[in-house]
Amino acid sequence: MCHKQVFLNIDFLLNCEGSNKMSELKAEEKKTKKKTVKTTKTASAEKPEKKTVKKVVKKAKAETEKIEEKVAEVMVAADGKLAEELEATKKKAAKTTKAKTTAKKKEAVEEAEVRVEEAVQEIVEDLGPRRSVAFIGSECYPFVKTGGLADVMYALPKELVKQNCDVKVILPRYKCIPWKYQEQMVYRGEFYMDLFADGKQFYVGIMEYEWDGVVYDFIDNEELFTSGNPYTNMVDDIPKFCYFSKAALCALLYLDWIPDVIHCHDWQAALVPIYLRTLFENTKLASSKTMLTVHNLRFQGIYGLDAIRYWSGLPDYVFNKDVLKQNWNDANMLKGGLAYCDMISTVSNTYAGEIQSEFYGEGLDAHLRYHSGKLRGIVNGIDCDIWNPETDERIFKNYVVEDAIENKKANKIELQKELGLNVDENKFVIGLISRLTNQKGLDLVNSIVPQIIDGNTQLVVLGTGDPGYEDSFRYYENAYKGEVCSCIQYDEDRAHRIYASADALLVPSLFEPCGLTQLIAMRYGTAPIVRETGGLKDTVEPYNMYEDNGNGFTFDRYDAGLLLDAINRAKTLYFEHRENYDAMVKRDMQKDVSWKLSAAQYRELYLQLKP
Ligand code: ADP
Repeated sequence: MCHKQVFLNIDFLLNCEGSNKMSELKAEEKKTKKKTVKTTKTASAEKPEKKTVKKVVKKAKAETEKIEEKVAEVMVAADGKLAEELEATKKKAAKTTKAKTTAKKKEAVEEAEVRVEEAVQEIVEDLGPRRSVAFIGSECYPFVKTGGLADVMYALPKELVKQNCDVKVILPRYKCIPWKYQEQMVYRGEFYMDLFADGKQFYVGIMEYEWDGVVYDFIDNEELFTSGNPYTNMVDDIPKFCYFSKAALCALLYLDWIPDVIHCHDWQAALVPIYLRTLFENTKLASSKTMLTVHNLRFQGIYGLDAIRYWSGLPDYVFNKDVLKQNWNDANMLKGGLAYCDMISTVSNTYAGEIQSEFYGEGLDAHLRYHSGKLRGIVNGIDCDIWNPETDERIFKNYVVEDAIENKKANKIELQKELGLNVDENKFVIGLISRLTNQKGLDLVNSIVPQIIDGNTQLVVLGTGDPGYEDSFRYYENAYKGEVCSCIQYDEDRAHRIYASADALLVPSLFEPCGLTQLIAMRYGTAPIVRETGGLKDTVEPYNMYEDNGNGFTFDRYDAGLLLDAINRAKTLYFEHRENYDAMVKRDMQKDVSWKLSAAQYRELYLQLKP
């Protein structure tokens, strides 16, 4: 407190001293100013002209400045206007250019459209008249598949649509159809239909799904199509497919879709031609012609005559020995269909001939010989979009003809890793993708596995079926660890990878109506080793070492020794003349295994039926 007071006092004294000095300075400044004013006044009085000039100059300057300001203002205004005008002109020009471009584009599009229309017209004219076909069958990829029939039911309609046909595919709506398809189906209607001889009424729903230009109509009945598998046992299956065959015809009438041809497949749809010519004889559908395709003669739909008479509700007169009756007390649905249809087809020319013989005829050879006048053989194709090594997303490395040799090796190595086989790109990998039944020649394979596995060869099996075969392949996997892999499963993805990775595919069937696996194998540059029967004979040209041509390796008699010989011929070419083997790989990939030719042949038959 004491110190603060002291400082304040000193400041006060200092300030007082400062203010005195300031007033002295100010007085002096005033004096100087007065002197200056006096001097100036004297000077101006001395030169009056100079003053006037200066004034004028000053005025002129001020005016010039004003004018300059105005000019600047005008310039700014003019600039703004000019900019606006420029913008407007630009917009106008852009509009005109856009309009001109749009007009040109429109013209070009219209021209292109006309050209496309003309081209389509030309193609359509080339293909001849349009035909409508209803496919009726029990399975169809990708909804439900147990074998090759499903592939045909999917791929043939798709190709026929491209060849000027209207196609409807009629299928049962099984519970096992994946939900992603079921949820997209559209309800088209429902009605009740009588079926059994006692007059019981059955519900028929129609659910529709359209895909790739093909219309799929699913026959809906939860009471009958409940099982997870399309086929269970004859007691359930026969009434189920009697219902399906009759309901398919009722659905066509309900939808008022009268096709030129009703194309039925296998025993499950074999009653359709009989229903058509009996119970539907007085309906609009009577004008349709029928074709029945036999995909596999082994399956015929045989059961007690009285039961089938009751379940089908068909009139008594069709249960005679020329139509449905077989032996003393059975009815055979396929036999009846073959008798009543307008045209029979089967899935290869060789098989069409074979089934008229006792060995392959499955008890119907005499019946087929009798009807041979209307029997034709057309080999199956495959869907080249699904089976395409260039785009297949399920394989490890895509490839085309040019890089197939290298990239197939890369696929082989990945497959070996996936399956736990010894990884070696130089091993000769043989694939086998099949239902494991005795139709497929598996007893031959079983008896020679020890001779096949020689240190340079590996065997990959993919299939399910008879427990006996499943067990024997499991046994070999265990006995030859790292060299044999048995995948006892149904796995589409793995099937693709085996086709792409293997060097050869075994199809030593006892009988093979057509066979798809050898076609798929060729598409993937995998040489088929097949027995010369049915479609295998028609589609695989045997390798000729003298002329260096052919697509695979074949043997004729059903004999394990001959199968081993064919495998050894393949190995010899692979290990000793690799350039010739590689050339065959490329040849196979270039072979036309598509549906194009076969669909055109079916179309020809439709035109014969309905000129
Ligand atoms: P089938 O109709 O007599 O069974 P196909 O050769 O006509 O014989 O058709 C068999 C079809 O089923 C082919 O597409 C084949 O790839 C496929 N396939 C067979 N077994 C399997 C399996 N275990 N896993 C995946 N696909 C299989």
